[in-house]
Amino acid sequence: MDGLSHREVMEGVFHIGDGRGNFCTLLAGTTGAILYDTMMGLGDLRSYVAGLTGFVPMVINSHCHFDHVGGNRQFDRVYMSEADLPLMDVGLSELPILEETQRMDFSYMVPNFADKSRVRPLSPGTVIDLGGLTAEVIALPGHTPGSLGLLIPERSLLLAGDAISPQACLFFPESSLEDYKKTLEMLKGVPFDHFLLAHFDYLFPKAKLDRFAQCLDLIGKKRSQEYVFYPIPTLGGRLFVLDLADPDTGELVGIFVKNADAGRPPAKKRG
Ligand SMILES: [Zn+2]
Repeated sequence: MDGLSHREVMEGVFHIGDGRGNFCTLLAGTTGAILYDTMMGLGDLRSYVAGLTGFVPMVINSHCHFDHVGGNRQFDRVYMSEADLPLMDVGLSELPILEETQRMDFSYMVPNFADKSRVRPLSPGTVIDLGGLTAEVIALPGHTPGSLGLLIPERSLLLAGDAISPQACLFFPESSLEDYKKTLEMLKGVPFDHFLLAHFDYLFPKAKLDRFAQCLDLIGKKRSQEYVFYPIPTLGGRLFVLDLADPDTGELVGIFVKNADAGRPPAKKRG
């Protein structure tokens, strides 16, 4: 339906994809459900989720980027970190650029960023009981200031959105390399065995965090390459590559940082 598909990666944990490299996760307990992210909002995500669980889910955004909040308009209420609320205005202002680069009509995206009445702030430390499954909200700043993860102790699982990644994206103006370092360090002490991310369809073992941390050691010490974020070409920075192909997944492992964090002057404006 609508290009949407899912895989139940663990009991009650449905990783839903839109066929365009974006994923959200539905947690379904015996008394309630959480939908973590709404991807780009393509297709009828609300009906799709209703078909998987009998509950109207509590919708939580991992962070306020367009490929995570796109389906918010399909739900009456959504929760995100207060620290990411300013990104709603940024997202709205970037829609014309995205329309051009993605060659898509993004008018449907306007309410996601413009209608603040459906958004409620969610604080780290909040614990949500779904019956047999609990989700604890934890702060994972770095990619954005208000990135939120969900820890599910019954599955020894962390949902992390874009907050950590084999291709960590820290070139956004709202990103903080220092916060990302602290988040990776903090996660060492958090009890979980696996994590799910918003642009990968498989479970990562916690041990992969060590590889992500190794990327930090490359910054300023190894050659990097210029990177332009093609959806919004005014954004970009430098890419440091740890491994062109991870032996387990074949994925590139590296880190994208701002020019200033790479010890470089800002890129010259072209044309
Ligand atoms: Zn993001």
